[in-house]
Amino acid sequence: MRMCDAHCHFFSSRFLELLTVGVAGFPDTNRAAAVSHRLGWQDPGSAAELADRWVTELDRHSVARAAIIASIPGDEDSVATAVRRHASRFVGFFMFNPAAGDVAGRLSRALGEHGLRGICLFPAMHGYRLDDERVKDVFTAAADHGAVVFVHCGVLTVGVRKKLGLSSPFDLRFGDPLALAAVAVRFPAVPVIVPHFGAGMLREALMAVEQCATMHLDTSSSNAWMKYYPGLTLEQVFRQALDIAGPERILFGTDSSFFPRGWQQAIHAAQDAALHAIGAAEEHRQKIFGGNFDRLFPV
Ligand SMILES: [Zn+2]
Repeated sequence: MRMCDAHCHFFSSRFLELLTVGVAGFPDTNRAAAVSHRLGWQDPGSAAELADRWVTELDRHSVARAAIIASIPGDEDSVATAVRRHASRFVGFFMFNPAAGDVAGRLSRALGEHGLRGICLFPAMHGYRLDDERVKDVFTAAADHGAVVFVHCGVLTVGVRKKLGLSSPFDLRFGDPLALAAVAVRFPAVPVIVPHFGAGMLREALMAVEQCATMHLDTSSSNAWMKYYPGLTLEQVFRQALDIAGPERILFGTDSSFFPRGWQQAIHAAQDAALHAIGAAEEHRQKIFGGNFDRLFPV
């Protein structure tokens, strides 16, 4: 079965440098290597080297294509380098903060010159409402450039920040799928992706999906948010998502990020098992594991 992963993080050297700006204890030279060492990760090296490592990893697991996310504002160049190098394998996403100003100019560079295709919003991290005017500007730019808008709703924890002891004063109230839907319905040409089935806001995410035809759910990560719903299983999550979103609006993802861990095979195995357990049709599984991704991101 053709597999495309809609949610991987491209943890480049530049990402590690930007993440630790102002953090004491790391040298100014070879900073990314020092941060990697502290984390027990493989040094990412150059963006080109990391891109090649990713392709080898995708090949090893028979993953045809992957969305790779520049996971801090300012790291668009790294993902753009990877996408240029392996255009048939990668779709470039990037974390974007609309509250930082010049929304149109910055998005024009990222989506135009850099050829990236997914704008990733983390409202709980950057502190703005999803029905804010600046978010409408993001959707306008996405419509102009044929991009998708990815919005992290619900609970937000960033593993690497925790490991490095960085403070993460996120305001989870901003990650509201219903506020997102209120904007998204006005931009019927812009596909929207809500990762991790809404990351704890499953009910609201499903309401948003039902209201708004452009809204997609990604299945990525261990979905540890299920702990907020006593007794909920991944099988039930998939069944409900299939009932309400339908097989066209569910995108398989893993949330893979660093090496040497690499691509998270176990996440795929768990999701595949859940879909088999509920008797999902092969045609539906094909859409979830690859077809929908190819439809949203034609090569
Ligand atoms: Zn992620």
